[in-house]
Amino acid sequence: MREETFLIRNQHEQTSAKEHTVPIYFTSSYTFDSAEEMRSKFAEEEESFLYSRYSNPNVDEFISKVAHLEGAESGWATATGMASVFTTFGALLDAGDHVLSSRSIFGSTHKLFTEILPRFGITASYGSYDDVDAWEALITTATKCIYIESPTNPALDIIDVRKVAALAEKHNLILVVDNCFATPVLQQPIKLGAHISIHSATKFIDGQGRAMGGLILGSNELIEKVKAFARHTGPALSPFNAWILSKSLETLSLRVEKHCSNALEIATRLEKHKALRSVKYPFLKSHKEYEIAVSQMHAGGGLVGFELEGGLEAGKKFLDALKMIKLTANLGDVRTIATHPASTTHSKLTPEQRAEVGITDGFIRISVGLEHVEDIWEDIEQALAKCFTTSQVF
Ligand SMILES: *Cc1c(COP(=O)(O)O)cnc(C)c1O
Repeated sequence: MREETFLIRNQHEQTSAKEHTVPIYFTSSYTFDSAEEMRSKFAEEEESFLYSRYSNPNVDEFISKVAHLEGAESGWATATGMASVFTTFGALLDAGDHVLSSRSIFGSTHKLFTEILPRFGITASYGSYDDVDAWEALITTATKCIYIESPTNPALDIIDVRKVAALAEKHNLILVVDNCFATPVLQQPIKLGAHISIHSATKFIDGQGRAMGGLILGSNELIEKVKAFARHTGPALSPFNAWILSKSLETLSLRVEKHCSNALEIATRLEKHKALRSVKYPFLKSHKEYEIAVSQMHAGGGLVGFELEGGLEAGKKFLDALKMIKLTANLGDVRTIATHPASTTHSKLTPEQRAEVGITDGFIRISVGLEHVEDIWEDIEQALAKCFTTSQVF
């Protein structure tokens, strides 16, 4: 089956009611016909459902769909994207281990590296997205894992996944890629040489700002380790959220295609806008890593960044001037969302620290939704006009 068909047709088997679409398996546990059956299933002599902290039909369906898209042997689903990030480290790292990470990563992942994992004796150091050649010098005998995001959040820089995979291979390290911004449709890290791909399913996979979830994809061998950790630490995805997320996958290809075409159109128009210092979108030829982006992604994604003249104040003014587009922390929603990282998610960093991760004070990130592109553009354009005097624009 082709991708779109698989996402729609690969459903958990029908019950005796012969329903056309999968029901929600709202059950904490499952029954056994005999003591012997229960013993053998608990001994994992055969695959089966035991208890919903371990597995559930809705969760299994969700995992198998995304694993298929990304070419992964196996997967594990969690209640949030951060639960997937933490579960991966909890499963694969021991006290004394070191992680080499790209510098610009999701804020909570950064907190894990700086405040939480050190309490368990795990340390991290950081390499710049645009100088992978220098990363080798950061690898020590304690390094076990390389962690990257591409495109990066929020700066939309691109890291050469194949190049990092070659480095991981050379030093026998596990390469973990947070693939949230690219979605399983646009980029398949495992096919590029990564060992683990992680998603916050809360974003494009749900796509409608409703349900939270996370996914870890990889080889049978690595996912066995994830399972062994997760079964007893309990980050399980709820059957209800798994059902919603599985339904969302039925339209993922279609939605992502439209997110990308709307985003490319908005980025192209912004690039012509005289009042902006710069525009960033992975599939604009002006993007610094355009060639790498095109070689590892099928399209540019749903996020666009741009740089306002006038720094922090202009950024806040722009957000306040938006009418249709709401201020909220999510991304990948059908509704367009604008954020100003310097005054919100990254306000605790110094301007120098922000610059290191590619965030300038006038940087705006737009998660382009599925509204009509003219309505999205009109709102952005009128808000931009309010940030500048006429003489600056023309
Ligand atoms: C949102 C996000 C996460 C965390 O996901 P949650 O579902 O919010 O826990 C991790 N990585 C990236 C890149 C994200 O955007």
